[in-house]
Amino acid sequence: MILGCRLDDVDVDTATHTILKFAEERAGAQIVTLGTEMVVYAQRDDLFRALVNRCALSLCDTVGLLAAARLRGAALRERVTGVELIDHLCAAAAEAGVSVYLFGGAPGVAQGAATKLRSRYPLLGIAGTRSGYFGTDDAPAIADDIARTGAGLLFVGLGSPRQEFWIERYLSRTQCGVAVGVGGSFDVISGNVARAPEAWRRLNLEWLYRLLREPHRWRRQLALPYFVWLVALDGLKSCAR
Ligand code: UDP
Repeated sequence: MILGCRLDDVDVDTATHTILKFAEERAGAQIVTLGTEMVVYAQRDDLFRALVNRCALSLCDTVGLLAAARLRGAALRERVTGVELIDHLCAAAAEAGVSVYLFGGAPGVAQGAATKLRSRYPLLGIAGTRSGYFGTDDAPAIADDIARTGAGLLFVGLGSPRQEFWIERYLSRTQCGVAVGVGGSFDVISGNVARAPEAWRRLNLEWLYRLLREPHRWRRQLALPYFVWLVALDGLKSCAR
């Protein structure tokens, strides 16, 4: 647990295997890829925190969370990013004959990501794609559209917490076996937004690269120092106990 949010100790291969099984069994499982900002947000939204803790899998998406978890003695093996997870899942889904649906992002982005994934995994069944900009009243019809495609695995990239609440509310209506919240991953896969070069990632500086490329995110990134402060405070509290 980090600041009241559950994190599961699974590597990308185990996560892939587990999620694919949910899809095949039509389990109706929700998966969260937990980021640092989401944990900070969960401190002021009890419903969101409870939702995260109810998910079938809660994966550690950021280095900040990984470091904090390890500092607190949790044996987390590695982070599992949305982009990486989508890639592994599509490889496995193509082999297993499970079709996927990509929902989220600006118009054309999910389709662009689907085209890239299809060229990487020619056997991949793309049940459908849809942009993530819609009116609130359209949500049930979107879920019905997804259901009609018969997709087994649903990726939802609406940003957090929107995507988590959407999945919780509409997953059963989509009839997909499993849904994964993937944030801005479609932007990266489609090539709409560049991912940090390997060297930056190795130095755990992906957040800085992103801040330099998208300076308007500075306010959101204030969540990072605040997160460090919250973890330190929590550590002090448990020492005092
Ligand atoms: N998005 C969307 N619908 C909305 C708002 C956002 O589909 O109403 C998409 C947006 O285009 C982007 C993603 O959600 O692809 C959010 O990306 P961001 O990097 O902000 O999310 P994070 O990965 O940090 O949760």
